[in-house]
Amino acid sequence: ILKGKRAVITGSNSGIGLGIAEELAKAGADVVINSFTDRDEDHALAARLAADYGVTVRYIAADMSKGDDCRALIEKAGGCDILVNNAGIQHVAPVDEFPVDKWNAIIAINLNSAFHTTAVALPGMRAKGWGRVVNIASAHGLTASPFKSAYIAAKHGVVGLSKTVALETAGQGITCNAVCPGYVLTPLVEAQIPDQMKVHNMDRETVIRDVMLQRQPSRQFATVEQMGGTVVFLCSPAADQITGTTISVDGGWTAL
Ligand code: NAD
Repeated sequence: ILKGKRAVITGSNSGIGLGIAEELAKAGADVVINSFTDRDEDHALAARLAADYGVTVRYIAADMSKGDDCRALIEKAGGCDILVNNAGIQHVAPVDEFPVDKWNAIIAINLNSAFHTTAVALPGMRAKGWGRVVNIASAHGLTASPFKSAYIAAKHGVVGLSKTVALETAGQGITCNAVCPGYVLTPLVEAQIPDQMKVHNMDRETVIRDVMLQRQPSRQFATVEQMGGTVVFLCSPAADQITGTTISVDGGWTAL
């Protein structure tokens, strides 16, 4: 359904971003994947996706903590029909001890990057009369937890930015929404499971259910494929009138 569309996904050489890139490619979109590194394996990943799905895939290195790099990413891609702002980092500390450099990096990567990429991508979308901006926020874009002040401020900001862009593009064939995942099983999360099992002296299932997914009523992780599927849905004709809103993929977290 997305044949002929070009998608740019920020922070997409692993985890959720890669899952989104795979589902968009599966749906026929040409894809630009990105991270701040420029290694052989990053370009090999692009070649693997292209071979798997029969679409054009490019890897473009750009550091989403830098505004100029964010803008250059969209320019080097030649614009895009689908923009997925996914790059994100986390740091956990009480607000009165929060390292200033971590605060600035989180706001830059998790929030400011979406402003820069969107600003450059919109004119091309307007010219074509079609566009999709999907911002990967979080359950923490809608609710809070202690010790994650920068992340939660950034993710709430992403939800606000999404609504504003939706209003500025309404009626132009462009939609802008935020996806709000709960806990998603990515390689990083998977890697934490053995440590958590040791710390709590629990088996895998118990540590997942009672420790990691304590706030997720389904007691099941969301998957990167489900995140990708949600983005593909937002790019489908069924979602033409879905704009300026949030879609939670959180097993009931925000219903509590
Ligand atoms: P991840 O660490 O696996 O992926 C993050 C991606 O961003 C990687 O590809 C990384 O290379 C890239 N990245 C980091 N810094 C960058 C920079 N400066 N420039 C360019 N790329 C950069 O994490 P993930 O879990 O896949 O997270 C992806 C997004 O989903 C983030 O915005 C995160 O906040 C959000 N999210 C994740 C979860 C979860 O449970 N995993 C839950 C809610 C929201």
